[in-house]
Amino acid sequence: MILGCIADDLTGATDLALMLTREGLRTVQSTGLPPDDLDVSNVDALVIALKSRTIPAADAVKQSLDAADVLKRLGAQRLFFKYCSTFDSTDQGNIGPVAEALLGMTGGVTIACPVFPQAGRTLFMGNLFVNGIPLSESPMKDHPLTPMRDSNLVRVLQRQTKLSVGLIGYATVDAGADALRKALESDRAHRIVIVDAVKDDHLRTIGAALAHLPLITGGSGVAMGLPQAYLAAGLIGQLTRAAPRMAAPEGRRAILAGSCSAATRGQVKAAIAAGIPNFRLDPLEIADGVQNPSQLLQWVDRQPADKPFLIYSSDEPEAVRIAQERLGRDRAGIVVEHLLGAVAAALPARGFTRLIVAGGETSGAVVQALGVKALTIGPEIDPGVPWTRSTSKPDVALALKSGNFGAEDFFLKAWDRLS
Ligand code: ADP
Repeated sequence: MILGCIADDLTGATDLALMLTREGLRTVQSTGLPPDDLDVSNVDALVIALKSRTIPAADAVKQSLDAADVLKRLGAQRLFFKYCSTFDSTDQGNIGPVAEALLGMTGGVTIACPVFPQAGRTLFMGNLFVNGIPLSESPMKDHPLTPMRDSNLVRVLQRQTKLSVGLIGYATVDAGADALRKALESDRAHRIVIVDAVKDDHLRTIGAALAHLPLITGGSGVAMGLPQAYLAAGLIGQLTRAAPRMAAPEGRRAILAGSCSAATRGQVKAAIAAGIPNFRLDPLEIADGVQNPSQLLQWVDRQPADKPFLIYSSDEPEAVRIAQERLGRDRAGIVVEHLLGAVAAALPARGFTRLIVAGGETSGAVVQALGVKALTIGPEIDPGVPWTRSTSKPDVALALKSGNFGAEDFFLKAWDRLS
């Protein structure tokens, strides 16, 4: 295994795993520390998904160091610390403290680069832009947990770490890999350097110039150039082209949607219009016990075996607001997550092997309820969403979709990528 990755949340981990797969590394993702019996003999990269973005910095550091220890033990020659492409963090952490702790383990210097041009994240003279708008003026300024009110990442990161933070600007990166490597080597003043990039070519330049660093930190974008660079350096024998379809165990299919994001609502509508059998959940009825696991499973058992079905709680903002007012925001979410988790846990025994799950938190709840510990990454269905397959029992194929991802026909077409 060449690359060991630590991601600060689940869908971010999948995003990175998909990038590495697409660029030619055989990649596995684990939820939390990987199971002891995980076989990495045919794996180039392992991504450990933590849930450490907004926990206290000391806990994030501890979890990240534990993950790094495991990755090193499994043979990782390089480490990658993955965070959000909008640099989600506060002055108390956690990007600075975790990067600092990992550098304490690896030695040397590192870079910080959340750039992802395809998603509209670019960095110019240390300032992060979101779809062309400075980070501090973007919707991220009002994020409930990590409001980003300063676009200058040198300043943002410097407030989080004792290590001195530098900048390598656009002109150097644009001049190519040699210029970038020399600039980093001649910078003796800084241990963490923010690196500008505004297009994919820059990310590939960063990969070519800096794949030798023991630690890289950033968004999934900055991993783009690493696989090719590892090949060029002889660190891996070949790039492995991701198969267009993923082998999945034969069995029944189900769609569980707990996201209320606009894209998922559209996908639910399209699936219903296409005649997919469906069951609508209502948080108020779940809280009252009217809707419950045994009722749902009786419904599941009545559905035709040759078709997927859809169970969804996705609803319009006004209905979500009413449910949240009545139950409280957290409880409204938790009752839905618990019910979908309970249904998911009962599916493998009923012969279900292929599941689509819509929603980041919902996916976390379903993966946990299924007891799935690690996933191999398969083909991309729509940007940012791959098919995955559990490495151990239950043997299931899972498409874990962040709420706002995917085209309207996602629930209909995703199955075609399985064989
Ligand atoms: P997304 O990826 O779109 O953010 P998540 O699954 O992360 O989706 O978050 C959606 C949250 O909303 C979950 O906690 C889910 O349980 C909750 N939820 C789902 N349906 C409803 C609803 N009808 N009313 C209120 N909350 C809901």
